[in-house]
Amino acid sequence: MDLKIGLDIGSTAIKVVFTDGDNILWRGQSATRPGQESVSRALMGNGLAELGLAGEAIVNVSVTGYGKKLFGRPGAVADEISANAAGLFRLSGGKAGMIVNIGGQDMKVIFLDARGRLSDFRMNDKCAAGTGRFFELAARILDTSLEDFGELSRRAGKTLELNSTCAVFAESEIVSLLASGTPREEIIKALHASIARRASALIGKEMNHPIWLDGGPAQNPGLVEALEDELLTEVLVLEHPQYTVAYGAILVAR
Ligand code: ADP
Repeated sequence: MDLKIGLDIGSTAIKVVFTDGDNILWRGQSATRPGQESVSRALMGNGLAELGLAGEAIVNVSVTGYGKKLFGRPGAVADEISANAAGLFRLSGGKAGMIVNIGGQDMKVIFLDARGRLSDFRMNDKCAAGTGRFFELAARILDTSLEDFGELSRRAGKTLELNSTCAVFAESEIVSLLASGTPREEIIKALHASIARRASALIGKEMNHPIWLDGGPAQNPGLVEALEDELLTEVLVLEHPQYTVAYGAILVAR
């Protein structure tokens, strides 16, 4: 067995994908914390153990993500944007025109040409309010888990608008809404809508179809629905949307 590994050291989560070159054999993730290299190695060790393989099976580790420079002696290094484009294009069966990636600390829009090559990209890493970290903060304030966000926002009775444009103000707006008795379902729905508006602003006027959402927050169906409502078009999501960048690192390295 020749194992090719993609390692995405993200700002919030470290993701690992094992392949035999083409097929995904294993995927796993850990929260990002100091000592990224040892966390990554422990995660890869879990994968090897689960597959019953020894370290000698590894032929290459391709590293990408915010913390890619923190991994000593990688087999290859890939930039996150190229890895995302390559990974999603392959996993979508070559049917991707545009990717909206929401990560722990940024939001990106990646435009692809018909052959899956990068044609343009835009990033917002200045404002925390449109990122996964803000979702985590909101989940804590609202005393619920991110896994429940989709279902809760679906149950919202009224459509409410969050006015704050920055994470710090949005946090206090959420706290005041809760204090005035607003149901958390309505707050969560409003939060999804506000992030969808940010994504739409980053996309601008031109859209390339089909449109995919990936990164950890893409696991939240409430966010996908809000983005569809905002863009007035279908938004597609892979089964494991947080692993496309790690998988793409292997393709870029090749
Ligand atoms: P990065 O690559 O920047 O580390 P990720 O793409 O891994 O970021 O996304 C991390 C974010 O994903 C978290 O901040 C959190 O908001 C979101 N997330 C993680 N798990 C879930 C889940 N089960 N449902 C919804 N959102 C999730």
